[in-house]
Amino acid sequence: MSALQRRRLRVSGTVQGVGFRPFVFHLANSLGLTGFVLNDSQGVLIEAEGPPPALELLKERLLTEAPVLARVDSISSETITLVGGGTFEIRQSQDLGTAASPVSIDSATCPECLSEIDDPTNRRFRYPFTNCTNCGPRYTMVKSVPYDRPYTTMAGFKMCQQCQSEYDDPYDRRFHAQPNACPLCGPHLQLSDSNGSLLAERDEALSKTVGALLDGRIIAIKGIGGYHLAVDATNDEAVHLLRTRKGRFDKPFAVMVPDLKWGRTLCDLAEDHVKELSSIRRPIVIAPRAPNSVISEEVAPALGELGLFLPYTPLHHLMLKDIGVPLVMTSGNLSDDPIAFEDQDARTRLSGVADMILSHNRPIHIRCDDSVVKVTNLGPQLLRRARGYTPEIIRLSRPTQRHIVSVGAELKNTVAVAKEGFMVTSQHIGDLEHLSTYQSFMLTLDHLCRLYGVRPEVMVHDLHPEYISTKFASETDLELLGVQHHHSHIAACMLENNHTEPVIGIAFDGLGLGTDGTLWGGEWLLADLGGFERLAHLKEVPLPGGSKAIKEPWRMAVAWLVEFCSPDELDRRGSELNNRYNEIVSLMEKTPQPITSSMGRLFDCVAALLNVRSYITYEGQAAIELEALARIANGTQGPQLRFDSFEKAGQLIADPTPMLRGLLEGKDAGLPSSLLAASFHQSLINLNVEITLELAQKHNVDTVALSGGVFQNTLLSVSTTKELQTRGLRVLTHKILPPNDGGISAGQAAIAAWER
Ligand code: ZN
Ligand code: ZN
Ligand code: FE
Repeated sequence: MSALQRRRLRVSGTVQGVGFRPFVFHLANSLGLTGFVLNDSQGVLIEAEGPPPALELLKERLLTEAPVLARVDSISSETITLVGGGTFEIRQSQDLGTAASPVSIDSATCPECLSEIDDPTNRRFRYPFTNCTNCGPRYTMVKSVPYDRPYTTMAGFKMCQQCQSEYDDPYDRRFHAQPNACPLCGPHLQLSDSNGSLLAERDEALSKTVGALLDGRIIAIKGIGGYHLAVDATNDEAVHLLRTRKGRFDKPFAVMVPDLKWGRTLCDLAEDHVKELSSIRRPIVIAPRAPNSVISEEVAPALGELGLFLPYTPLHHLMLKDIGVPLVMTSGNLSDDPIAFEDQDARTRLSGVADMILSHNRPIHIRCDDSVVKVTNLGPQLLRRARGYTPEIIRLSRPTQRHIVSVGAELKNTVAVAKEGFMVTSQHIGDLEHLSTYQSFMLTLDHLCRLYGVRPEVMVHDLHPEYISTKFASETDLELLGVQHHHSHIAACMLENNHTEPVIGIAFDGLGLGTDGTLWGGEWLLADLGGFERLAHLKEVPLPGGSKAIKEPWRMAVAWLVEFCSPDELDRRGSELNNRYNEIVSLMEKTPQPITSSMGRLFDCVAALLNVRSYITYEGQAAIELEALARIANGTQGPQLRFDSFEKAGQLIADPTPMLRGLLEGKDAGLPSSLLAASFHQSLINLNVEITLELAQKHNVDTVALSGGVFQNTLLSVSTTKELQTRGLRVLTHKILPPNDGGISAGQAAIAAWER
């Protein structure tokens, strides 16, 4: 018999509240080991005694067989003195303090729970709040650490005897499942009308909701991180009514389908779409639309794509199964306000939109929208990172001595915290110009600090003094660090790729304040986490009317036409564009306008020139529709368009004038606008290759990072990546952070953490 050994194993990562201790308990017993497992402030601590080969297997299988919600970051092991003993046990937690990853993500209902709610003999048959250690709400339900029932929104529900014995039994799937509940002791549904009068409770509330949805009614439905507004997605009138009442005119609605089979009738789903759709994160997945689907045209006007998602709570499963058609499930808000998550607020804000409200008495502690993922040839890309992703940590490339908070940008705001070797970026918060979003911003910052035990020492903000996040930072007593917007974008991309060497960063977005006081957005930077140099950028033009130009793409077209047209041509093309074009010309002549090198605004200009869109109702709309138009060309070659480039004060300037000229000539010659839109995209890809190669050679850099909202454009990001790779460059792209301003807080934190 081989000599016994005792080892102390320390497991860190997301290992608490995810069924890790019972998993270790079973594993150790099956390997014939003795000892114990417990939770402590650093994660999970195991002492195991037995033959060394069994101890090796234990360590290996801790990694390969961990529970679905666990994320093991590291396992350390040391040999200690033998203790003996005949059993392996789960011990009481010690000195919990703040663990590095105290809480897991909110995750979709697991197959075991699903079969229970489908089983008429089970005590949880049709119970909408069924969950277990492998599934259910977490981040949105936790008020404080340690992750224990009294510190969650389940504190008010006392478990019945049966639930309690499941909770106490290490052999049970619900051992220490904090949201554990059943029809006897847990939360229940309530359906009320828009005046707040109770219409029905429990299963009757659900069946009435289903009936009302089939009748074309709009129902506000409380979910995991907030309320949705639901309506039958196949009913034109109902969808139209929802658009009108919500004040949301063109922005696509997400659609929840009963199952994948339904999903396939609405969209062409590739393997990657299916993988994302069915993952425990359950994001909204953007996929190409199938022809002749039953979905109302009003769901996603003018787009060849649709955002789909699958049910992710028992309530969704029951409802979608009963109703049997896809539902529009859009955020429960009015236009761009943050989603309602508190019951009183939902009644106040949503009663004018929804005919009825399906609520329940399990409070939501913090709001968290649905995440949005787009699948590209480079893999899945997050457009909105929230439920199912937050609060997963990202490892820093180098540990930091200080506790850092970063407050992000203005639109699509997120915040982040960092300490020691990790950082956590918040769920999507929204556009800070709304007061209620600002309140959400402060709550979220506070929540993250509390969960991760961060006592802020440094606050990182954007350079833009008018961002509400910047103003918030300037009012604190903390040490401040201002970081340039596009440097943050590139740093975010470097962070998630764990890259620390200098890169050529291509940062294309709407607008971000540069170090020279102009508005940047079409930038090539030589950057690392320590700093950057602006090497090249798009030629600058005025931004006529400032923020008005963002909402009215035709203004950007006028700004560019003025650059290269004769007065006669300007008059002809300007009046074709908009009968107010002269106002813009004289505005630019009389008053100095902000200057911009924004790539997003160049997309606006092209979209307006091709009559795609002159006014927008949601951010990025013109560029999104321009990409959709280019896809119609489906690979057919349009005219070759090209940018010029020249040097100015040591920087390379990309001048779109010849490209725009070619575009107008093509238009004059009657070429289809889809072909011209495709040509425009191709000219930009060529420009990226040309300029980037030149800069990479000159500065002896072999890695390129792509970031900024413009890279949500798949035609651009995929081809730019492939073309650069073909030429021997390594290309970093976003996979776990959004390329848009939702990634800014992560980049800010990465830069601050890099400082010694
Ligand atoms: Zn479950
Ligand atoms: Zn119970
Ligand atoms: Fe940006």
